Amino acid sequence: MNNSHPKSRVYYTKPSITELEIRYATDAAAHGWGEHCYDYILRFEAMFREHLGVKHAIATSSATGALHMGMAALGIGEGDEVVLGDINWIASAAPIVHLGAKPVLVDVLPDTWCLDPAAVEAAITPRTKAILAVHLYGNLCDLDALLEIGRRHGIPVIEDAAEAIGSVWHGHRAGSIGAFGAFSFHGTKTITTGEGGIFVTNDDALYERVLTLSNHGRARGETRQFWAERIGFKYKMSNLQAAIGCAQLERIDELVDAKRRIFGAYREALYQLPLSMNPEPAGTTNGYWMPTIVVDTGIPFDREVLLAAFKTDNIDGRVFFWPLSSLPSFEPQHEHIVSYSLHMRALNLPSYHDISAADIARVADMVVAHVKGILP
Ligand SMILES: *Cc1c(COP(=O)(O)O)cnc(C)c1O
Repeated sequence: MNNSHPKSRVYYTKPSITELEIRYATDAAAHGWGEHCYDYILRFEAMFREHLGVKHAIATSSATGALHMGMAALGIGEGDEVVLGDINWIASAAPIVHLGAKPVLVDVLPDTWCLDPAAVEAAITPRTKAILAVHLYGNLCDLDALLEIGRRHGIPVIEDAAEAIGSVWHGHRAGSIGAFGAFSFHGTKTITTGEGGIFVTNDDALYERVLTLSNHGRARGETRQFWAERIGFKYKMSNLQAAIGCAQLERIDELVDAKRRIFGAYREALYQLPLSMNPEPAGTTNGYWMPTIVVDTGIPFDREVLLAAFKTDNIDGRVFFWPLSSLPSFEPQHEHIVSYSLHMRALNLPSYHDISAADIARVADMVVAHVKGILP
């Protein structure tokens, strides 16, 4: 940390930790062993099921692990294809590759930055085993269209809701709608356990399969000790992490409200500029994990210049995700015009829960000055 800077640092993200998290973590460290070693995990899963309105939840060490096990339980493997948006964090694609399947990248929509349903439809082949709907930065995918495509082709829609805690689709929380949902509690996310994640589903059979997989292939009810019926995974959340998670879940409304308040303040300050921000279509709620600006096409915006200006003012900036197809593990797909245009025009703004109104203004003023300064 650079304490010599004349201005206080504005972090792009930082967990909100109170006495409650400290109390639960301390309790877990002191007493959460032996017959109590699962107490906070079971409580966390129950609280999460209730929050989301789902039948089943399995706490994991990461969203990546939850996605990996869920896709394995859906039978995705060698030679299969999973369709997802080109603009994404690599964690959504990695489990597909680990299973020997192929991530089929398609272009995204210019307003939600999520999967373009028409592109999904066009990408479906006899090998397509799932559509991976990633709700980017809290923005919801067009679930009506994606679920309809899935039904028509008999393929499941998976929700990567790692960034979509607090987002609601026509009365249903993000992550509770598809075949299964995955969430992340990494330190940068709206609620955190340090590292951590959760798998959720309403499908009893899928739940049982993931439960067995998550326990190194040992089925529930198996009486023989150490009897694994298949090769599974070890992606468990610890009781210590779950203790912090329970405190965060007790505060979930407060934490999501803070994200929404921060987004509102930025929008208020920036709405007159030639840029768009995270959308919130009628009938939906956006959890606004990351307030994001996308400067209009035709404006000579250079994100690197704005990032450099942020840096001189001790403000953290964060670049929009790269098109996955532009990374070394993939083939470039420049025909994804929206994806390749978006990321250079976009930036995530600092949004940790306790950011002050003055610091939001400091960031917003810099965006205003920068964008106004480049207007033709
Ligand atoms: C953070 C994130 C993940 C990965 O979460 P981990 O808990 O770090 O595995 C997956 N998908 C998306 C969209 C994310 O933002």
